[in-house]
Amino acid sequence: MAAPDSIRFCPSCGRPIIHKEIEGQPRPYCVACDRVYFQDPKVAAAVLIEKEGKALLVKRANIPERGKWTLPAGFVDAGEDPQEAAQRECHEETGLHISIQSLLDVFSGKEHERGADIVILYRGRIESGALTAGDDAQQVAFFGPDELPPLAFDATRKSIQCWLHSLKMDKD
Ligand SMILES: [Zn+2]
Repeated sequence: MAAPDSIRFCPSCGRPIIHKEIEGQPRPYCVACDRVYFQDPKVAAAVLIEKEGKALLVKRANIPERGKWTLPAGFVDAGEDPQEAAQRECHEETGLHISIQSLLDVFSGKEHERGADIVILYRGRIESGALTAGDDAQQVAFFGPDELPPLAFDATRKSIQCWLHSLKMDKD
């Protein structure tokens, strides 16, 4: 579905949408239904998986940033638990079944047209499965702190910083 700010006709009754100032902003509004179409943020879930001091990354098959690497991640479906979304996306992209260990961070800020407004970063642990690139991943591999490939997106760079920081904390 189109973003609510680009809605021209009411999804409920089909009449033209107007923009009405509500709570300080012009928002899509249907007079007939007396209904406001609020624009909700898109939420993604990402997962950091570490094995033998290396982090699991996936090489993007799609634009934008095709060919660069990110953490296993994807959009949270409506009604889906973000932890389950992280597990599902990780399985689709890497073939691995994981469990969620902890919440590491939450990032905000849309980076591109099709991007998420909010990214929830978990730490995960491999439970089963064989490493295989799937879905929108070209390749999947583990990388040590000194052998990181070109990373896509700020959220990935921040996530990797978070991981490098945790490695340093473990050493101290
Ligand atoms: Zn309507």
